[in-house]
Amino acid sequence: MMQYPQSPLTGRMMSQPLLISSLIKHADRYYGDTEVVSRRVEGDMHRYTYRDCHQRARKLANALKHLGVAMGDRVATLAWNGYRHLEAYYAVSGSGAVLHTVNPRLHPEQIAYIANHAEDQYLFFDLNFLPVIEAIAPLAKTIKGYVMMCDRDRMPVDSKVANLLCYEDLIASSSDQFDWPLFDENSASSLCYTSGTTGNPKGALYSHRSTMLHSYASALPDALNVSARDVVLPVVPMFHVNAWGLPYSVMLTGAKLVFPGPALDGKSIYELFEQEGVTFSAGVPTVWLGLLTYTAQNNLKFSTFRRTVIGGSACPPAMMKTFRHDYGVEVVHAWGMTEMSPLGTCCTLTGKHAHLSDDEKQARLEKQGRAIFGVDMKIVDDDGQELAWDGKTYGNLLVKGPWVIEAYFKNEGGNVLQDGWFPTGDVAVIDAEGYMQITDRSKDVIKSGGEWIGSIDLENIAVAHPAVLQAACIGIAHPKWDERPLLVVVKKPGMEITKAELLKFYEGKIAKWWTPDDVVFTDSLPLGATGKILKNKIREAYRDYKLPTA
Ligand code: AMP
Repeated sequence: MMQYPQSPLTGRMMSQPLLISSLIKHADRYYGDTEVVSRRVEGDMHRYTYRDCHQRARKLANALKHLGVAMGDRVATLAWNGYRHLEAYYAVSGSGAVLHTVNPRLHPEQIAYIANHAEDQYLFFDLNFLPVIEAIAPLAKTIKGYVMMCDRDRMPVDSKVANLLCYEDLIASSSDQFDWPLFDENSASSLCYTSGTTGNPKGALYSHRSTMLHSYASALPDALNVSARDVVLPVVPMFHVNAWGLPYSVMLTGAKLVFPGPALDGKSIYELFEQEGVTFSAGVPTVWLGLLTYTAQNNLKFSTFRRTVIGGSACPPAMMKTFRHDYGVEVVHAWGMTEMSPLGTCCTLTGKHAHLSDDEKQARLEKQGRAIFGVDMKIVDDDGQELAWDGKTYGNLLVKGPWVIEAYFKNEGGNVLQDGWFPTGDVAVIDAEGYMQITDRSKDVIKSGGEWIGSIDLENIAVAHPAVLQAACIGIAHPKWDERPLLVVVKKPGMEITKAELLKFYEGKIAKWWTPDDVVFTDSLPLGATGKILKNKIREAYRDYKLPTA
């Protein structure tokens, strides 16, 4: 960790460490009767308050102590968004251990790899993941016990898993008298592995300090804009970069919290929004597709839902417009990554944009946005030279800030920084007003005749067609041009469109040479564990595809 010189004169303010436990203490003391509502894996609804949550988190902290979990030990979770997972968030990190959220959609062998790499001591899991636990238990070398997050009567009578513990038994048998320990704010608090589309997954190890600063910054009005008047439903899973920090920022602000459990289909989400008066939500574009399809098919509107943050992959402008024009829901486009805790930019307008036309405002809002305070960014060429902020020149996007990774867990991958900046692997332009726009992931860029074609632009145009549900654009080897774009498309249910009609739709919207050389229609696109379209899988599937122009 970098060391800095110290002034001979030290400020005379309280040097209270920034610790995650302070959030739950604050929520209990100042918003004690604010509700946390969860759709449970068991199928029913559960509701209690921040005060109840704090009490149970203290009991769980005592239980962890009793199990021998020490400061710095890793405790894994394999769970959906729900109140027990929230209790684990606070009990584990608050007591000085490290919460390792694992993505249950990964293959059991990958989960075992991650658990072994992290040297997890205990694993907490939702009851429906018992088969996954049975598959990983023989492979996991360091896990001393598995805690099934349910009541005693849901526990299996006989299980192949040795040392299977019942969560509610642990809570019931533990005292609620627990003083959250004070320790250095740079202590590790939680651990998330990157999706690892290439090579083995690598761990981003957050600290209490980085998490707290991220929580402050992400709650700001031009970021997630969460307040005590909001009802927040994180659709983004608690295993995807800590649900983008929402389990922390809701406690910081006193917002009511609603958890969807495993039911992420359009109908279930819509009903929960309406029942609980949800005002704000956050998730990747693919989950919103399901919700918007359901509301359109059933001619439904939202009564309270006003704002959503969409990120994780590029939000198609067509989706933003549908939310805004058809439903009165404001979309804030956000960009970030596991290595950034995750928030880097959010897209909102400034005062000087008030006079702009709707189209001019929309053109800005489609970008990934301005850096939130704490994050600095720049674009550089392949030699590391900084490039102009003119909205046209694209380059490798680099970031720095107190919640940006310095090195991966166990120094995996060695020194990852370039002159103190973290290379994101994204290619972007930044305009004169500081709005950043991702043109592509560097490995997804299509290289045609020595120039780059941004696949995100081509996909955004395709999904703006009323008959298109999803689209992915990949580069296909071409004898003359190196690579040319192929568009892979999923049609909306019951809609028809031909290749010629879709290609005609590109006319006038982009430079002619950017137009895809061919279109293939398919029933579905492969999605990764966090709901993102897996371009590498599509590239593999179409590796030998012959373009008509080749
Ligand atoms: P992950 O760490 O799995 O969340 O992935 C981070 C990556 O997702 C980033 O480096 C981007 O390539 C991509 N990403 C995240 N948000 C956006 C966005 N709003 N637009 C385009 N790509 C995004």
